[in-house]
Amino acid sequence: MNATRSFEKGVPAASSSRPIPPFDDEHEELRDSIRRFIANELRPHAQQWEDERWFPNEVFEKLAAVGYLGLKYPEELGGQGGDYIHDAVFTEELAGCGSGGLAAGIGAHIGIATPPVWKFGTDDQKQRFLEPAIRGERIAALGITEPDAGPDVAGIKTLAKKVDGGYLVNGAKTFITNGVRADFVVTAVKTSDEGGHQGLSFLILEKEMEGYTVSKKLEKMGWHASDTGELAFQDVFVPDENLLGEENRGFYLIMANFQWERLLMSLGAVGAMGRVIEQTLTFARERKAFGRSISGFQAIRHKIAEMAIKHEAGRDVTYHALRLFCDGQDAVREVTIAKLATQRACFEVADEALQIHGGAGYMKEYEIERAARDARLGPIGGGTDEIMKEILGKQMGL
Ligand SMILES: Cc1cc2nc3c(=O)[nH]c(=O)nc-3n(C[C@H](O)[C@H](O)[C@H](O)COP(=O)(O)OP(=O)(O)OC[C@H]3O[C@@H](n4cnc5c(N)ncnc54)[C@H](O)[C@@H]3O)c2cc1C
Repeated sequence: MNATRSFEKGVPAASSSRPIPPFDDEHEELRDSIRRFIANELRPHAQQWEDERWFPNEVFEKLAAVGYLGLKYPEELGGQGGDYIHDAVFTEELAGCGSGGLAAGIGAHIGIATPPVWKFGTDDQKQRFLEPAIRGERIAALGITEPDAGPDVAGIKTLAKKVDGGYLVNGAKTFITNGVRADFVVTAVKTSDEGGHQGLSFLILEKEMEGYTVSKKLEKMGWHASDTGELAFQDVFVPDENLLGEENRGFYLIMANFQWERLLMSLGAVGAMGRVIEQTLTFARERKAFGRSISGFQAIRHKIAEMAIKHEAGRDVTYHALRLFCDGQDAVREVTIAKLATQRACFEVADEALQIHGGAGYMKEYEIERAARDARLGPIGGGTDEIMKEILGKQMGL
């Protein structure tokens, strides 16, 4: 297959021919199936779930039934036996659901919270947490951020004190995606008094544990369909068998996870930009002003051309980073560039689309205002743009 693809029939795609490596024909077939599933099963409900500030947990079961929660996981764990590239297809297409919050809730589960269990977990942990997560029965979250510690993980204060048979955990987490609904949280804790990055570990906390509470469901600018929680832990006993990876080696787990999280965010932004551009092309052709389609005005054409450049440039650096990552190479520099090139760009593309839609862009009905609100999280989440530039600076020897 090497056809030019489009999101809407009769509308030429803003992007060039597919497949583009690392994707091949098999991935493009998967893309078509995922796109159909999202159009039929998720997109029709996006507005309602945004309004309700919640999407139902059954979404996970529906995704599991078609295998989309386990694309990259081995068959013996209930997965599809694919790899990161299959997950990349899913993430890019998920933007088509039209709700950043829905995509974030699903993404937190399969993209950032379960991979550490797969990579660092014991067989018992895989059986208790990963397998039910792939089946959509247990929902996962990743708990790193705290009221006083964002990307500076050396500042994490949640303390896990060693006691007989396990740990006693006291502390708090904030801004946790799926934080309200999660059955288990892959949680960063301090297990030693040593400062800096030493003494960080990961424990899997389960919502039934005594002393574990969801202290708040946070209200947000965008991502309305997702639940973002604040968690409090008071003398929570966590058994030894819930220690994920080695004690005091949690910093390495965080760093390993960040690259994939940032790639997923880049892919999501690429998908979202493509979708917004397609919607804008359709609108600009149909909307008449001063006796002609607004797409006939040079000012509008130039805006759309600039949007297409941001989309394609972002897509190309993201696919490049994905190729290196999937090849097992050190892709920190490329992943950092991809995140930086796509997150602010996605917000700018959505904002320009809103301008081209005029008053309609400001109305809920056209979904452009939602796309802009949702995209604003990109330069903040998963490492802010400022932190990304610091990483890039270091990569350049500065
Ligand atoms: C909707 C949402 C969902 C989230 N989901 C999760 C989740 O599931 N799990 C989780 O653990 N976290 C989650 N987060 C947290 C997110 O990762 C953090 O908000 C993000 O990393 C920024 O941290 P912070 O908010 O503490 O900002 P701060 O670290 O307080 O930063 C404030 C400002 O200072 C700047 N700054 C900080 N340090 C430097 C520096 N060294 N140089 C220059 N500028 C600097 C930042 O760039 C930013 O502009 C979520 C956040 C949101 C908003």
